[in-house]
Parts: sequence; C-alpha cells; structure tokens
Amino acid sequence: MARIVMKFGGTSMAGIERIRSVAARVKREVDAGNQVAVVVSAMAGETDRLVNFCREASTLYDPYEYDVVVASGEQVTSGLLAMTLQAVGVPARSWLGWQLPIQTSAAHAKARIRTIDTEALDKALATGQVAVIPGFQGVDDDERVSTLGRGGSDTSAVAVAAAMKADRCDIYTDVDGVYTTDPRIVPRARKLQQVTYEEMLELASVGAKVLQTRSVGLAMKENVRIQVLSSFDDRPGTMIVGDAEIGDNNMESQLITGIAHDKNEAKITLTAVPDRPGAVASIFAPLAEANINVDMIVQNVAHSTGSTDVTFTVPATDLARSLDVLGQAKETIGFVEILHDTKISKITVVGVGMRSHAGVASTMFKALAERGINILAITTSEIKVSVVIEEDYTELAVRVLHTAYGLDAEEESAA
Ligand code: ADP
Ligand code: ASP
Ligand code: MG
Repeated sequence: MARIVMKFGGTSMAGIERIRSVAARVKREVDAGNQVAVVVSAMAGETDRLVNFCREASTLYDPYEYDVVVASGEQVTSGLLAMTLQAVGVPARSWLGWQLPIQTSAAHAKARIRTIDTEALDKALATGQVAVIPGFQGVDDDERVSTLGRGGSDTSAVAVAAAMKADRCDIYTDVDGVYTTDPRIVPRARKLQQVTYEEMLELASVGAKVLQTRSVGLAMKENVRIQVLSSFDDRPGTMIVGDAEIGDNNMESQLITGIAHDKNEAKITLTAVPDRPGAVASIFAPLAEANINVDMIVQNVAHSTGSTDVTFTVPATDLARSLDVLGQAKETIGFVEILHDTKISKITVVGVGMRSHAGVASTMFKALAERGINILAITTSEIKVSVVIEEDYTELAVRVLHTAYGLDAEEESAA
C-alpha cells in the first residue's frame, strides 16, 4: 500500500464527463490498495471568469474579498468529484482549506502555506475514504479564506503530499509531461523523461506554467517525488528528480534544457528620474512594501540633463496597483512621466550547461535579429538568459530559438 496524492488541473475537471473519468482514475488507485488524497483545480476558465468579475467590481479590488470570490471555483469541483466518486462506490469526502485547515500567511491573492493539519486527513484515509481537497485555497490566522496565486493547486498538492508523507505526488494535466518548451507552441518540442528540481524551478519561474514555481521549490525542500502526466492517456510522464537520481539521459550534458515564455508581465518606464544615489531605491521600496515583485530592471544611460529613464517589469496583475503606488510617490522619486505597456512577453532560455559554455546569449540575440525581432530588455543569470520582446512575436521567437539551440524533435509530439 502506498499513500499518494493525485492532482487534477482545470482541463481535467472541466465538466461532469471529465470528472467521471478523473473518478475512474482515482478508483484504479484505490482498487490497487492505495490511500489517496486528491487535490483539484477549478474547471478550466472558471478562475479567469471569477477574476474578471473582481476587476469589473473594482480596479483596485480588496485582495481579501478577491480570495473569497476566486476560491469558490475549487469548492465546486471538490464537491462534484467527491459525489462522483461516491456514485462509483468509492467512499469520499471533500475537505475545504478552512476545514483541514490549510493554514497560510495573510498575503491575500498570493498567500504561502505555513502548515497543514493532517489529523482529519489521516483519519479519513485510515478508514478507506478518499479525501478530496480543493487546491489553491487556505485560511489565514484570522480565519479569512486565502488563495495561493494563479496555478496554486500544484503547490497545494505538493504541500498536502509533504504533510501526509505521501510516497508520491502525481500531477495530472492536459499534456503528458514536461517538454523542452510549450508543446502547444512548438509541435516538435521534446518530452523530458526526467528533469531536475533545479531546472524545473527555473523553467517554472520564467513561465513554463505546467507546474507552479512554488510547488517545485517546496517539493525540492520537502523531498516530494513529483510526476507530471496526462489525465487523458496512460503514457509515462516526466519525473522531477534530484541531481543524484538523474539517469543516462543526463540533462546536464545538454546545454539548454528548455525555453519558456511569459505574457503575464507588464513593462513600466519612469522618465527623467534624477540621476543621484537613492533615486532607484525610492522607486522600488514602495513597490516592495506593496508586495509587488519587480522582475527585470533596466536603467538607461543618464541624459546630459542629469536624469535617467528607468524601465522594469511587474506581474500584469499588479500593474494597476504599481501605477497607483508610483503615482503616490511621484514627488519623492522625482520622475516626469510614467509609461506602461502590457503587450510584451518575456522569453527565457534555461540550461545548467550554460555555466560552462559561452555563447548562449549571443546565439539568442542573433537568432532573434535574423527574424527582425526587437529586444526591449535583457537579463542573464548563471543558468538563464531572458529577453523582453513585443507580445505579437512570442510564438515566432520561441520556435526560432527552439530550432537555433537544436532542440527540435524529429517528429511532432502527440501532446
Ligand atoms: P493545469 O490546469 O492542469 O494545471 P496548466 O494549464 O496550468 O494545466 O499547465 C499545463 C500547460 O502548460 C500545458 O497545456 C502547456 O500548454 C503549458 N506548458 C508551458 N510550458 C510547458 C512545458 N515546457 N512542458 C509542458 N507544458 C508546458
Ligand atoms: N484555479 C486556479 C487557477 O486557475 C488554481 C489552479 O488551477 O492551479 O489559477
Ligand atoms: Mg496549472
């Protein structure tokens, strides 16, 4: 007997027919004698729908109430799956975030899980019941409903797996594994049989949304065995493994592990910021205080006038709040104009092999230049290079780079 966590994403939960086939998969594991906790997402498109209601209600919506609204999508699917399981003879019960509870920080809309009480869960599993847990949600110290940020059900699943000391955490989604890039953009993307936590962490953090970044960090820390696989077929998926475990198809021998894109950032430029010590700090301190994560930063060469333009990116969902915060700090910062652009995209090439190889960035710049794709900002780290480009060129850029780094498979994937 093993203890397992099965997580099903939005596409897998979209409608009663699909929930029935999820129930059949869960039943298979139960019939094999395993103890099972299932973590579910809202139906595909539902969270977007709920987020839009919040935006319509108020541009600078209260994150506490946003959480009340958006957490509801997972409440629906967890109840539906529990009753579907019961209908096929599998004892099941749903456990909402506040019922277990899944205790989180009070950073609403991007809360972090602190602890999960497993008492009720252990009891349920010991009596042969399947526990169905809505992903994405928890409860803060004041017993207000909280959510973990978009894609957060992956993190819920890994956290539940760690708390209940599960033998494995299977993430069922609408592709059959982790690929060298999004297989929906590049049909010749290659499936990775194994990928290290470190590489997955990097890929996720730059936009490969197949796993939420925090879920990978948590799995690495808590030693949770994750497998990414399809809920629509039975092909073997991708195992996320430690460095020591990686087999002969060692990714370290590959220069580039993968390419990711992210359309969810917005670019802000403050013009004519005084070119003096402390000016940059006066921009980023209020953003940090407002819990807004700044990603790429470019400070242009100073004008002869003693001022400089500062450009940076923030999550698009935080754009309105960022403009508000910066607007209030205009006098302190001393900028002239604030410009913003949401029609941008960040393309990142990731590979641990970059540590020992030169030329990765120049291959990228050359390949993009040959297609006339203009680069708006660049950052590099030890194992990745990112560029910001105009959003319309995203798919083209990903395809061109996938070919330029020799990642194309001989045949198109079935994903
Ligand atoms: P779920 O609803 O199951 O959580 P997501 O939509 O969050 O599913 O994540 C799965 C999607 O991630 C896939 O449909 C695919 O388009 C996208 N994706 C992006 N990068 C990759 C990658 N490198 N490998 C596999 N899928 C990827
Ligand atoms: N339903 C949430 C979202 O769409 C959480 C998740 O699916 O992981 O972001
Ligand atoms: Mg997801």
